[in-house]
Amino acid sequence: MDILALSNNYDLYKEKSLRKRRFKYTDFYQVIGKHLEKKNVNFLEPEFSFEGRKIFVMTYGTGKTTILIFSQMHGNEPVSTEALMDFINFLEADKVWSKKVKLIMIPLLNPDGNEKFDRRNAQGIDINRDARKLVSPEARILAKIHKEFSPDFALNLHDMEPHYTSKPENLQTVLAVLAPECDEIGSVNPARKRAVKVISGIITAINQLIPNRLAKYTDKFTPEAFGDTFMQKGTSSILLETGSIFNDKERLFARKIVFLSIVKAVDLIALKGYLNTAVGVYRKLPDNQRNNAFDLKIQNLSVKTSRGDYQLDIGIRRIKKTYNDEDFADEFSDYRIVNIGDLKRFGAIKSFDATDYVFNGNYTEIFIGQKAGFEISSNKKNEIINIKSLL
Ligand SMILES: [Zn+2]
Repeated sequence: MDILALSNNYDLYKEKSLRKRRFKYTDFYQVIGKHLEKKNVNFLEPEFSFEGRKIFVMTYGTGKTTILIFSQMHGNEPVSTEALMDFINFLEADKVWSKKVKLIMIPLLNPDGNEKFDRRNAQGIDINRDARKLVSPEARILAKIHKEFSPDFALNLHDMEPHYTSKPENLQTVLAVLAPECDEIGSVNPARKRAVKVISGIITAINQLIPNRLAKYTDKFTPEAFGDTFMQKGTSSILLETGSIFNDKERLFARKIVFLSIVKAVDLIALKGYLNTAVGVYRKLPDNQRNNAFDLKIQNLSVKTSRGDYQLDIGIRRIKKTYNDEDFADEFSDYRIVNIGDLKRFGAIKSFDATDYVFNGNYTEIFIGQKAGFEISSNKKNEIINIKSLL
């Protein structure tokens, strides 16, 4: 599969009725309706969320190797669902691999969370921490489908906050990947080895399109999570986390990258190309660095004080409204100064070179936790800028 060529033809497959990152269940339902009519993919009996919304399980192909693909178990991570719907369009148009693989696809596993744009389900449960207890109906559905089909591979699709970066250049991470742990000591069972091989193939392909923006997601063993649980049970689990780039609020670029990654993953599995990939590619992947990018990084700003003048970088970020650090929250309060000093090694969604600018207020106003609303001025450029206007 030529990923570069497919990248150029992406518009043929992009689900155009899902244009905004935040879509409603009715929008999704319409897209499903279109596929129900076309009958190119098969639908199992629908399942139901806690609040009674239908969860659709689709199958494709008659091959021996089974791949389970599911998206948005976290309600506020919709780009993964959009990329999966693009992928389903691709399947319908090109009818590839139908004799090689059997795909079981569950887009939008958490429709109640999506409706409120909340990570958790209607009961307040994080479905990806419910793989053992199975208290939520959504987790029970995923466990039931897994048991019924015993998939060889599983693609677990998520979105992540835009403030992650990857080394060496600390650019925003567009895609983070992981072959989750299967125990506390980081063993590599045969399932995990296969997952690492597939991921290595994905990275090699995607790196051609966008180098230095891929990273390895945090790999601590989480026994309540589905990826880790499936891996223990012998299913090669692959986590794909959609990131972001610059100020692409709708994440259209990252969505395309995830679409291409799904295609590449299935292609590597269907044609057994993964058997020959170099696993070192995965091992060498930099760690995904959390909270390492600012919404705005102001560099080289001069501060004038009666005690002398000095230069600073200032990092500004939106402050999350959340009571649990694990929750990827999309609701924010305001912009605050979160770091000051030499911030060269941090990434930024936006950067502003303030070399010719001076902060004329009281130096105590530039401090950690202060609201970002100060003014800077440049004699050279004859202008005054309020930092808010840069955000
Ligand atoms: Zn997630």
